Amino acid sequence: MKIRRIPHSYFVEVKQELDWEDVLHKLGIKFHSTKKGGSIYEAKCILHNENTPSLTFNPYMCAFHCFGCGQSGDTFNFISYALTGELYNYGRVFRWLNKNFNIPLPWDR
Ligand SMILES: [Zn+2]
Repeated sequence: MKIRRIPHSYFVEVKQELDWEDVLHKLGIKFHSTKKGGSIYEAKCILHNENTPSLTFNPYMCAFHCFGCGQSGDTFNFISYALTGELYNYGRVFRWLNKNFNIPLPWDR
């Protein structure tokens, strides 16, 4: 695979543009919002089976964390994991964002 340099600003801007609600909806992940400490979203972890949701999404931090398995990361890591099972398959994430949110590919911006 060809290595391309993606400007840091791409990640910062896209994370600010994206809304967890839209992302989770597009990924087909059921979630609900909680009121504790602001609007945090909760869902059942996609990384393991569980009966009660321990996967949380913080809109202010653009981050996710699972209290069940300890996995955490940012919006890009989560989308990558949901799509491919890997945390850093950014190529797939770029194309997915382009298709679902009309976000220009980083090398087209
Ligand atoms: Zn988990």
